[in-house]
Amino acid sequence: MELKGKVALITGASSGIGEGVAKALAARGVKTGLAARNVDKLKSIENEIHRAGGEAVSLGLDVTDKASVKAGIERLKEKFGTIDILINNAGIMPASDIDSFKTEEWEAMVNVNINGVLNVTAAVLPELVDKHGGHIINVSSIAGRKLFKGLGVYCGTKHFVAAFSDIMRMEVGKKHNIRVTSIQPGAVDTNLIDSISDNGYKEDMEGLRSQMTFLSPKDIANSMIYALESPDYVDVSEIFILPTDQE
Ligand code: NDP
Repeated sequence: MELKGKVALITGASSGIGEGVAKALAARGVKTGLAARNVDKLKSIENEIHRAGGEAVSLGLDVTDKASVKAGIERLKEKFGTIDILINNAGIMPASDIDSFKTEEWEAMVNVNINGVLNVTAAVLPELVDKHGGHIINVSSIAGRKLFKGLGVYCGTKHFVAAFSDIMRMEVGKKHNIRVTSIQPGAVDTNLIDSISDNGYKEDMEGLRSQMTFLSPKDIANSMIYALESPDYVDVSEIFILPTDQE
């Protein structure tokens, strides 16, 4: 599949994996919609993409807020006319034990990692159905496949993403010619652990860095590009990508 000229919406594009994927897609001629809450960061990434000769527009939105999602998507369509690719990437991981009862963090994870995916999918999918084509990539995690102490709610949200992706693939693949990919990365070098308020788990996660070379956002972008560039009769439905040293 030729990516040049396609339009992609990338949530969580203000840092980490989303930023890396946006830059990699823009370098291939994809018109990128950069969605997240931090508009200053988005603008600076947008400027970087422009300076490199690519196309991008910043879309300040909160995936948990349906009205802001709708407004952001309308802005993207005004700018680039359509949407071909959705990358549901925004996510948070405030790790803690269940008996710490950090219930606000549980709710925030469910809101961003589950409801955020549902809100953005519900807002974009009708466009892909209408044009009878497109590709949705949902960012799950190694935690969508394996279980880890401290990640009781996070693992639940990422198992949800994997399950929702594969059922969406079954329902919209043949019927609407839409490919769906679930990607399950292991440790990637990003700001994800900044959302951890539990000092013990934050130290554990930081300690992982001394045990292995983490993946980079670029590694994740390359694997997504493999799925996106595959011929349109090929749906790379799952990608499980880990640092070589991660068990
Ligand atoms: P980062 O913290 O660097 O990026 C998270 C992104 O999500 C930011 O751009 C943030 O932007 C955005 N975001 C958070 N909440 C919202 C919201 N309510 N509305 C819109 N955007 C939001 O972490 P990563 O790049 O690592 O995370 C990206 C995805 O990858 C997540 O889904 C994560 O679970 C997953 N993942 C990460 C792994 C890792 O090791 N890093 C491994 C496996 C999966 P802003 O704050 O500006 O809104």
